[in-house]
Amino acid sequence: MSNETSPAQQRKDALFSKKKHAAARMSGQELQSCDAFAAQYMAFMNSAKTEREAVEVLEAQLKENGYVPFVPGMALAAGDKVYLNNRGKSLIVATIGTAPITEGVRLCAAHIDSPRLDLKQHPLYEQEEIGYFKTHYYGGIKKYQWTAIPLSLHGVIVRSDGTKVQVRIGEDEGDPVFYITDLLPHLAGDQMKRSLGQGIKGEELNIVIGSMPFKDDKGSELVKLALMDLLHEKYGIVEDDFLSAELEAVPAFPAREVGFDRSLIGAYGHDDKVCAYPAFAAALAVPAPVHTSVVILTDKEETGSDGNTGLCSSYLKYFLMDLAECFGANGRHVMTASQCLSADVNAGFDPTFPEVLERNNCAYLNHGVCVTKFTGARGKSGTSDASAEFVGTIRRVLDAGNVIWQTGELGKVDMGGGGTVAAYIANLDIDTIDIGVPVLSMHAPYELVAKTDVWAAYRAFKVFLES
Ligand code: MN
Ligand code: MN
Repeated sequence: MSNETSPAQQRKDALFSKKKHAAARMSGQELQSCDAFAAQYMAFMNSAKTEREAVEVLEAQLKENGYVPFVPGMALAAGDKVYLNNRGKSLIVATIGTAPITEGVRLCAAHIDSPRLDLKQHPLYEQEEIGYFKTHYYGGIKKYQWTAIPLSLHGVIVRSDGTKVQVRIGEDEGDPVFYITDLLPHLAGDQMKRSLGQGIKGEELNIVIGSMPFKDDKGSELVKLALMDLLHEKYGIVEDDFLSAELEAVPAFPAREVGFDRSLIGAYGHDDKVCAYPAFAAALAVPAPVHTSVVILTDKEETGSDGNTGLCSSYLKYFLMDLAECFGANGRHVMTASQCLSADVNAGFDPTFPEVLERNNCAYLNHGVCVTKFTGARGKSGTSDASAEFVGTIRRVLDAGNVIWQTGELGKVDMGGGGTVAAYIANLDIDTIDIGVPVLSMHAPYELVAKTDVWAAYRAFKVFLES
């Protein structure tokens, strides 16, 4: 009997990679910081369920922290703080560094839109004396998950005179919520024979919004009329104003700690606010970077990034060109010298559904922020695939900063897959790699993440912006 490590164990310790739960690698003090950060994050989640609300909440924080709107041609010096609000739906935050802008920027990109149910342009109708809104879902959802849960309604309505009214109802205590029905099991024999994907169909995602008729003995559509009356009173709108509205139904659940040990966070929209918020917080926590830091929180990722608030558009490129011009530099040279963390969530290993992930190459809860060299599907199609050299650079930055991180792919080869905004940024000739928090039940109305991974994401963005 001996306590000495065997020669094989010694060589393993020296040569093999090690997997360890974050709790085994974090001090008690760091675990406290991680809890405090989780509380901040949950407060943010409860105040910002949609891209518009995220921009509004974060813009207010920027102003409190001395950030001013970016104006092309403005004089800028190290330590200056600017931001660009792109149409109320995406945000770029920049802190000017001490290094020349031609040495590139440190860019973190995350998205603030999440899967949800958008109202159609003619949403309001009545059937059998129940009032409804018609919806068209936004992003990839499992439709059956969106029935029989409380929903809230968020967005804007632009009236015929051009004035805009904001809607946010179903979040505050005392607010009513909204609801999509499902069939009772007693009568669901036929429905249960449908495939899971067809269990609830797109045109069955109709939101119940009321049931009391307008007081009159005569006339049809009296429930619809009474509802329109209420909406007119509350928002000053008529039915045609829905034509120029963006109204989004989202789960009305607040973010909550999950588990006896409170180690997890359940919330709507972790994808991708669980990367957006830490990236934003990291930008504020690095007031004097060497390289100019740029954090972009974009819209439209869940529908493919098209549109002028999504990253297939040129708004990031234009911003970087304008920023370069403030220093008399060429934007193209700035982009070529820049580095980007494309911060988006990844699928965490779910022991209940082990068959879709490959255990050596997937992300685990509580094993830190997940770096993904390539995404894509069917032979890496659609990926920007970070170079070995750039992975090496990021690896050194994360290790030097004692960040807890892991690597993982989204699913087994040919199991499915998915893309992020990484390719659109890499296509600007910027070194880009994916990084993000592992999530369980991604795109469900209530998603799950681990607190230690959220903290690890924040630390990763911070050390990167400091590099
Ligand atoms: Mn995402
Ligand atoms: Mn997504």
